[in-house]
Amino acid sequence: MTIYLDNNATTRIADEAYATMLPFFTDIYGNSHAAHRLGRASNDALEHAREKTAKLVNARPSELIFTSCGSESNAIVLRGFPKNTPRRKVVALAVEHPSVLATLRRLESRGEIRLEVVDIERDGTLDLKRIDAAIDDQTALVSVMMAQNETGVLYPVAEVARIAHQRGALLLVDAVQSVGKVAVDVQRDEIDFLSLSGHKLHAPKGIGALYVREGLQLEPMWLGGGHENGLRSGTIPVPLAVALGVACDLAAGSLGSASAVASLRDQFEEKLLALHPAAVIHGKSAPRLPNTSLVSFPGLFSDEIVARLDAASVCVSGGAACDSGKREPSGVMKAMRVPHEIGVSAVRFSLSRYTTAAEIEACLTALREVVSHPTG
Ligand code: PLP
Repeated sequence: MTIYLDNNATTRIADEAYATMLPFFTDIYGNSHAAHRLGRASNDALEHAREKTAKLVNARPSELIFTSCGSESNAIVLRGFPKNTPRRKVVALAVEHPSVLATLRRLESRGEIRLEVVDIERDGTLDLKRIDAAIDDQTALVSVMMAQNETGVLYPVAEVARIAHQRGALLLVDAVQSVGKVAVDVQRDEIDFLSLSGHKLHAPKGIGALYVREGLQLEPMWLGGGHENGLRSGTIPVPLAVALGVACDLAAGSLGSASAVASLRDQFEEKLLALHPAAVIHGKSAPRLPNTSLVSFPGLFSDEIVARLDAASVCVSGGAACDSGKREPSGVMKAMRVPHEIGVSAVRFSLSRYTTAAEIEACLTALREVVSHPTG
């Protein structure tokens, strides 16, 4: 039996989402823009899926466009850059996902924007004073993720929105890791743009969404049939969107069980520390996603731990990059300024609402064996 604890990388599609999308491949396959009955049926299903997806983040359906993934949603905002402003400065956290940071660095290298990267604290949290100091009257856009994908640490996006808006800047929130795991509310938090990704919340790969607050304008990355409010031309993959709608519905219904996931994660950490007291749990005292545990095993190497767990049928991710034998801590570990030995031994365990106590026990049993032998 495979034990899957890599849900921040991707998730298994929910059975209900899978079953609901199948007829849209085989029977109701009309182009959702077509005027005939198969087109109308596709369009009805698409709009129904849009309503459910929008509801999960408390947006109006008209403010939500479908995309192919979280990376694309981020790119549409960053490359499309808010229109109607001469400002060119962008402020982003040092631990933003590469789909944000790499895009911003490219725009910076072309002279299209001025980028200010904001450091985080050693425990993975954000000190709002740093954001406050970075956002000025030249700032057009601020990019702050809702939850960090390696540590699971949650960032105070509502406070960031308040500061950004006071200075006339807009806020992009990459909520790819948060949607479906914690309550996300674009109205409450006054978010201007928000990215989400289907495959992180038990929908299929290949579908994402972007919330664009009503009235805000972006330059489309490409042109065509003017789909999705003119922002994302191209025929929509209706089956995938339908599955995302179902997955969002299921996620909304299961947010109440997030505390059960958190308690499983907390038990895992407690037992892990008991069997390996040298382990370091990152962001443990910070507000965190309920499902994420990033653990360093000083003296060991993350890629070898991942390989040994894999051999024991446990799937997890390493937090460190291993390139031609040279081990480097991840950018997130570096941003947290952790010692090298801790950075190169980080392993991420990410649960889902389908994870069982028995799977956690089996993972701990495998870990007991793995950490008792040196790596390297
Ligand atoms: N943003 C964050 C925080 C992520 O964790 C990821 C994926 O790991 C992405 C964006 C990219 O999402 P996608 O794989 O849907 O492009």
